[in-house]
Amino acid sequence: MAAEVLLYIGEPLARYRFPPGHPFSIDRQRAFWDEAQRQNLDQRVQVLAPRIATRDELLRFHTGRYVESVADRSIAGGGYLDYGDTPAFPGMFEAACSVAGTALDALERVMAGATLRTFQPVGGLHHARADAAAGFCVFNDLAIVIRSLRDTHGVRRIAYVDIDVHHGDGVFYPFERDPELIFADIHEDGRYLYPGTGHADETGAGAAAGTKLNLPLLPGAGDREFFDAWEQVLDHLRRHRPEFILLQCGADSLRGDPLAHLRLTPAAHAHAARTLCRFAEESCGGRLMVFGGGGYDLRNLAAGWCAVLREMVE
Ligand SMILES: [Zn+2]
Repeated sequence: MAAEVLLYIGEPLARYRFPPGHPFSIDRQRAFWDEAQRQNLDQRVQVLAPRIATRDELLRFHTGRYVESVADRSIAGGGYLDYGDTPAFPGMFEAACSVAGTALDALERVMAGATLRTFQPVGGLHHARADAAAGFCVFNDLAIVIRSLRDTHGVRRIAYVDIDVHHGDGVFYPFERDPELIFADIHEDGRYLYPGTGHADETGAGAAAGTKLNLPLLPGAGDREFFDAWEQVLDHLRRHRPEFILLQCGADSLRGDPLAHLRLTPAAHAHAARTLCRFAEESCGGRLMVFGGGGYDLRNLAAGWCAVLREMVE
């Protein structure tokens, strides 16, 4: 039997934070870990240290020119990498490399059979593009994992599930025409929230038509609307039979997040995690990697991420 859930915590990941005044300046890892310890979840996981991605690993998804520009801008910091969401700060390159490298460490351990489930609270940077930062995301750890699954491990049919309040555009568009990337994303309607994409009629292009499921919820939607949408996610996954599953469980979809307007409770995220763990066991031998994603209210993200982790260890 495989070992318990692997959980990644450490200072290099904590350094993935933006300067004071930014919504992502708060110590999210600390808030989560304090709550996990309070709930004794720390006793039920194997804690591992982050690792730093190499430049070659970043190039599995990102362009060389972009990687070098982040490295340059990271020396002095200052200004923005994009049009005003993602500030450059000193040490940004190393911090972003630790998010991507940690995701690859988790992937390698799953593929080696050391575990079936991993949880990386600081991770799931689903807006970063191959050649640009976006929406607080510098390097796209999720897309790097997907490319690595394909190119290094020969795993083709991968499901990407996203319950962060924002649409996972940085995963959706690069794989929009890829029929073996099974995509399911519940988010606040793009007419009301960044990044403005993820409409219900975006179902994949060309040979990939029908492999993508976007389920926008109106501002104010709560658990009832989520549970209905989640049933569609499970149906979609059952139809497409993935071999491997990634979950981005951003806690910014919980009620009270300062940046968004959905009103889910941690019970919604627990339900998603519980049923997805069960589905993973039926569908792909249990292989499931989970990433914390967004969440800008410390109590919410501690509660949301711990609700997910609890389901993963039980
Ligand atoms: Zn988000």
